[in-house]
Amino acid sequence: MHGFRHVAGRLHCERVLVEALARRHGTPLYVYSEQTMADHFVRLKAALGSLDPLICYAMKANSNLAVLRVFAGLGAGFDLVSGGELERALAAGADPGRCVFAGVGKTEDEIRLALAQGVYALNVESEPELVRIDRLASRMGRRAPVAIRVNPGVDARTHAKITTGTYENKFGIAFEQVAGMYRRASRLRGVWLRGVQMHIGSQLTEAGPFERAVRKVAPLAAELASRHGIEFFSIGGGAGIVYRPALASGEPRWWRSGAARGVLTPERYAAAVVPWLRPLGLRILLEPGRLLVGNAGILVTRVEYVKRTGRKTFVIVDAGMNDLIRPAFYDAYHEIVPLRRRGGGAVVSDVVGPICESGDWFCKGRPLPRVQAGEYLAICSAGAYGSVMGSNYNTRPQAAEVLVRGVRAALVRRRQALAEIWAGEQLAPWQGARAARRQP
Ligand SMILES: *Cc1c(COP(=O)(O)O)cnc(C)c1O
Repeated sequence: MHGFRHVAGRLHCERVLVEALARRHGTPLYVYSEQTMADHFVRLKAALGSLDPLICYAMKANSNLAVLRVFAGLGAGFDLVSGGELERALAAGADPGRCVFAGVGKTEDEIRLALAQGVYALNVESEPELVRIDRLASRMGRRAPVAIRVNPGVDARTHAKITTGTYENKFGIAFEQVAGMYRRASRLRGVWLRGVQMHIGSQLTEAGPFERAVRKVAPLAAELASRHGIEFFSIGGGAGIVYRPALASGEPRWWRSGAARGVLTPERYAAAVVPWLRPLGLRILLEPGRLLVGNAGILVTRVEYVKRTGRKTFVIVDAGMNDLIRPAFYDAYHEIVPLRRRGGGAVVSDVVGPICESGDWFCKGRPLPRVQAGEYLAICSAGAYGSVMGSNYNTRPQAAEVLVRGVRAALVRRRQALAEIWAGEQLAPWQGARAARRQP
């Protein structure tokens, strides 16, 4: 089930006409369906029901305050990767006691902030980090709750830029070295060994790698529980979504029961991991990001020009790689549909942005309905790693974001004003104070 469908030939987000949002707020515009986020969360939680897991939404996937509030309201915790994300989660009303702090490069300030706020656990990725946490916590008169991130040495069989669980990656501690590190950590007075954690990669589309990793690490978790009294095992995030075709059948295959072979459903994911986790008797944490928000968002863009070169048809739109970098960065596929469904034949098209980079594309050589300048397109499945990876490249303002719930829609991030882009910049003293200061 997801919240985007054509009704009478017009794309709707839940009960709201997307074109009306585009006209009111302009484009490029992210539109999110609150119902879709909630459905995904509830369905995942139900599939894992017997474990009663704590689901820590990986907020780096989409950290808009309103999105965080949706998940906080559903009882989610948060998986965060920077002090900025912790401050952001707090600003959205999150309970720090349900937050886990990951990342290979935590600074002293970030560690102190996490300890002062009382996060549930810091997930440790190296011995020097453990030593630093011990020292800072001791100085604060605290014991820092930590989990060591295990690198299970399992190939997630996903894109190289989003695989994290092999020994080629910078993440975690190699499986064979973990027990020794817990032994050393148990002698540190500023550290409380609270759990063990892993995360093998992102956009995994089969259950096999999850099962292999959990099966490998579960006995270690049991051993750590008996030796060091750890209370939780976080199995990370990474469950993939169906990017193609998100809309063609009215709902993504992900959500159809009895889904096609090879599609990772929440139930298949659960079936692969629950049998290994339940006997442990530990508190189980999950850190899904993309799974919860990926198909809950679209990027709406307007066609500026249709350029025919004889060889090719370029549909030039007003969104660029600064708004959605996934195609350029990961060669990602995103379904693209016109907001107004129309008859007529398909044209093999490249949909490209206005940015001065050949990597600024959304699809290449794809049969698309014939479109004209002024029409709107939806770039689908853009709810995860979309807006959050936006930049100001080419001095382009960051896109606006709208959250929809039923018949209601609210602007949850206004479009950035141009002057905000260079607000932090100034001339050097030797350049003279009387430089032109034009406000757009
Ligand atoms: C990015 C990340 C996640 C979430 O990954 P998804 O593929 O979006 O589910 C979870 N845990 C950690 C440690 C991460 O770095």
